[in-house]
Amino acid sequence: MRPRTKRERLVAELSSKLPAITEAQVRWGKKHCFPHVAYRCKDEMWCGDCGKIWIDTTGQKDGSIRCPYCGEKLEVKVSRKKKDNSESYLTIATISKDFQVLRHFFIAKYARKERDTHYFIDEVCQQWITADCKETVIAKAMNMGSRGWMHTSDMSIKQNGNIYCPHSYDINGYVYPKVKVLPILHRNGLRTSFHGVTPAILIRALLGESKYAEMLLKTKQYSLLEFYMYRGCLSHPWTVNICNRNGYIVKDGSMYDDYLRLLDYFHLDTHNAHYVCPKNLKKAHDKLLERKRKIEAKERAEADRKARIARMKRMKVDILSFIRKIQPFLGLVIEDDDIVIRPLESITQFYQEGKAMHHCVYQNEYYKRKDCLILTAQKNGERLETVEVNLKTFKIIQSRAVCNKTSEYHNRIISLVNRNMEVIRRAAS
Ligand SMILES: [Zn+2]
Repeated sequence: MRPRTKRERLVAELSSKLPAITEAQVRWGKKHCFPHVAYRCKDEMWCGDCGKIWIDTTGQKDGSIRCPYCGEKLEVKVSRKKKDNSESYLTIATISKDFQVLRHFFIAKYARKERDTHYFIDEVCQQWITADCKETVIAKAMNMGSRGWMHTSDMSIKQNGNIYCPHSYDINGYVYPKVKVLPILHRNGLRTSFHGVTPAILIRALLGESKYAEMLLKTKQYSLLEFYMYRGCLSHPWTVNICNRNGYIVKDGSMYDDYLRLLDYFHLDTHNAHYVCPKNLKKAHDKLLERKRKIEAKERAEADRKARIARMKRMKVDILSFIRKIQPFLGLVIEDDDIVIRPLESITQFYQEGKAMHHCVYQNEYYKRKDCLILTAQKNGERLETVEVNLKTFKIIQSRAVCNKTSEYHNRIISLVNRNMEVIRRAAS
């Protein structure tokens, strides 16, 4: 987009006057934006920073080691990897006129075993924010649907997100520690660190978008701040005051939130410093969690037991009513030379028939259905088809072989049952 408004034209002009990235900033980025790894394959190590190899016979498989060439402290990883490409962002926070500016540099490292390491660094995005929380974004073009920047394009005014994905240019880069902030942000507690929060998010919060950011920042509750910035709310905001009064710093915001919810679960007082400021958060959290787990296991077992009893009761009722229903048909046999047709005489037989024939006569509880007689047609003890006869109309509703297909005896079975329908009618009456 071309700059159209007064503000956009001002931002475009100021942006063109920003200094180029300095040597010191690039150096800092190379050091702090990437993990530093030594890859071990057998006795051979290579440095993911400078690409040099050396022999190490200590057998060290983790922990850290210093590269004998570049002197970098490296984390040892066992891997046959021969290249190490990684991408990251370096963010420089600065000011220009009345704007808080976040300059995001894409930085990539291409390391090869036994080769020189190359870096690529390119400014891809700037966020220009004023004290009234208005924001103008200048950025390079992006490939569709990803963070793939088109590095050859020029930076131009962009819309920061849409209604589906607001603030899509909020980049959480590694922030260069020489941070310059607007006086209002300084007043609201922001110094040189963003405490793990995406810079633009924290800046907007401190400019008045959210309630507790300033207080959490000023009282050094950084972990709670990070949690709050990403969750968007605090479930027990009053506990922050209790913590601050007692000089209690929360070390793990998300665990602390879990812990407070556990206190609620056990109806423990979340206004009492004894509970709100546990000496060992993890221990207190785990203890309550274990208690809750035991209670829930008990509740689950009790629910299972009740369901089992109900199931048994239902089964009993079904069996009794089926026995009453099948009584007149017990012993009924229809046969010709080799086909024998008999009613299914118990629910167990329904189960066996359904299982052997892979159909739903048991699952769909045909034994419960009114005016429904189920017969099994067999030859030499082998099941051929299952036949349903309606006891009101004395018509065959269906006759099904394995997997609901029809067998070669289908027509014979149908006509045999039809010829003997009078026998069934007499038994039913
Ligand atoms: Zn090295």
